[in-house]
Amino acid sequence: MNNIKVTNFMEVCVKEFLDDVLKKYPDVCQCDQCRSDIAALALNNLPPKYTTTDLGQIYSKIELLDSQHRTDIYKAVTQAVECVRKNPRHEIKK
Ligand SMILES: [Zn+2]
Repeated sequence: MNNIKVTNFMEVCVKEFLDDVLKKYPDVCQCDQCRSDIAALALNNLPPKYTTTDLGQIYSKIELLDSQHRTDIYKAVTQAVECVRKNPRHEIKK
C-alpha cells in the first residue's frame, strides 16, 4: 500500500490558491485550523481529480491551467472563505 501514490490535483490547486484568496480577506482568521476548514470546504465543492504524477509536475500543470478552471477553483475557495468568515469554528480573539 505504501507504494501507491495518488494525489488529488484539486487539493494542490486549492492549497496554492488559498493564500491568494486570503490576501483579499485580511479580516478572516488565518490560523491552521481555519485554513484547513476553508480548504476542506472548497474541496467538497470541487470535483476531485486524482493523478499519479508527482508534485513537481502537478505544479507545472497548475501554471498551465486554463482560465475557466482557474476561475472555478478561485470561486470555490472564495465561497469557502466567506463561509468560514461567517461561521468560524472557534472563538475569534479580539
Ligand atoms: Zn482560526
